[in-house]
Amino acid sequence: VTNPPTPDLLPALIRLVGAAQVLVEPADIAPFSTDWRGRYSGTPLCVVRPGTVDEVAGVVRLCAQADVAIVPQGGNTGLCGGATPIGGEVLVSLVRLNRIRDVDALNNAITVESGCTLQQVQEAAAKAGRLFPLALASEGSATIGGNLSTNAGGVQVLRYGTMRELTLGLEVVLPSGEIWHGLRALRKDNTGYDLKHLFIGAEGTLGLITAATLKLYPRPRYQSTAWLAVRDPASAVRVLAALRESLDNTVTAFELMSDVALGLVAQHIDGAPLPLQQAPAWQVLVEFSGSAALADEVPQALMALREIGEISDAVIASNDTQAQAMWRLRENISEAQKREGVSIKHDISVPVSRMADFIARADAQLTQQFPGLRIVCFGHVGDGNVHYNLSKSLTQDNAAFIKSAPIANRIVHDLVTEFGGSISAEHGLGQLKRDEIARYKSSVELDMQRAIKRALDPTGRMNPGKLLPSCRH
Ligand SMILES: Cc1cc2nc3c(=O)[nH]c(=O)nc-3n(C[C@H](O)[C@H](O)[C@H](O)COP(=O)(O)OP(=O)(O)OC[C@H]3O[C@@H](n4cnc5c(N)ncnc54)[C@H](O)[C@@H]3O)c2cc1C
Repeated sequence: VTNPPTPDLLPALIRLVGAAQVLVEPADIAPFSTDWRGRYSGTPLCVVRPGTVDEVAGVVRLCAQADVAIVPQGGNTGLCGGATPIGGEVLVSLVRLNRIRDVDALNNAITVESGCTLQQVQEAAAKAGRLFPLALASEGSATIGGNLSTNAGGVQVLRYGTMRELTLGLEVVLPSGEIWHGLRALRKDNTGYDLKHLFIGAEGTLGLITAATLKLYPRPRYQSTAWLAVRDPASAVRVLAALRESLDNTVTAFELMSDVALGLVAQHIDGAPLPLQQAPAWQVLVEFSGSAALADEVPQALMALREIGEISDAVIASNDTQAQAMWRLRENISEAQKREGVSIKHDISVPVSRMADFIARADAQLTQQFPGLRIVCFGHVGDGNVHYNLSKSLTQDNAAFIKSAPIANRIVHDLVTEFGGSISAEHGLGQLKRDEIARYKSSVELDMQRAIKRALDPTGRMNPGKLLPSCRH
């Protein structure tokens, strides 16, 4: 097909991938048109579901010829509206690219297509006796392509790093429709610019990721999960440092949760009892992975911390069911906050050493500005990343609360910057923070980003209106 005008695009797409994989009916495209939080909505020209890399490249070429923009979408679990159309684009859903292409246990590497869910990849690794360590509450639906494009973090970053650090190679369909075959399974490759890093965290603005080669690790022989009561975030940070000193590299997760966050879980999620009798203001879920020696070492280390008053109470899960119940509490905080109603979310990071001061200052400023505001603070404090979310006071109405978002954002993001942090630790910018970032990134940095965008996507058709402030559209 050469140069079809826009009206010919749909028939051309249908010829390429088949009528069943080109959705145009409002009821069929509805699930793709709104984001997980229900904040963003846009009607695409159509939804296309290619099943092979060549089909993806064909779709991209057809859209280029018709000068129609593309929105890539994986599991649609993103939290910044990055996968939601603005309107009129071709939404390319990658979920049919879901094959595990290769597992190389000796090289500790797995090659998967980008529409595989994270859970599918974890399971394929487990089948080969290996661990793929990325873990998110959304792992049953979130895809590898989405994980890569948002450089997802999750609960194991402390030990294994973000998606960026877990990636060895990529296969990408470029905005021109060319395919970059970059699926190298090497730990060392110093042959110029490391191009895969451009596409990781690019939120689909530079190309469509179709496959990835990812790192695998040995499976831990023993895991211990504990639930701790701490006085405040400062003591949580000290507890983390002490545990890492006494138990080396075995701390694989360290999640801080406020009583407000856990209160919402208790209220909205059935069968999620809190492990501790008394509910302290701050609680921590900590996971250790290593050898069977942890069975003795973990209780000893926790006892020592209790004796010096850093933790006031602790429960160690005695079996997998108890450990899973603890994780269920942590993983249901986002869902519980969603059921509670509208929220203003801040996915921020600061240096771990400055986390406690940041939380104290932000709490003070926000509660002074918005009396009765509920601060739902929780997250990966070991990575210096918390979800500093806000739920409205019980008496305020939704419209007034939403209207206060710019002021709340200004307070939180200015403070984050003062503390040397980032206004998006792991969820990306999408539509939500695309304009906000212009305030916090230098013009030098923004210009370099725009130069990269222009070089790879000169016509600005890849996911317009996301990530970069004032590009095309
Ligand atoms: C309950 C819950 C818990 C979560 N917990 C975490 C967490 O702990 N850590 C974390 O980092 N995130 C978390 N998230 C956010 C989300 O799950 C991640 O951002 C995830 O990586 C998105 O994957 P997805 O397949 O759903 O991507 P989508 O939402 O479909 O897309 C996200 C972005 O990636 C782009 N994209 C998707 N696929 C491709 C592709 N193949 N090629 C190019 N671009 C593509 C989209 O255009 C969009 O910009 C959570 C979300 C929920 C709902």
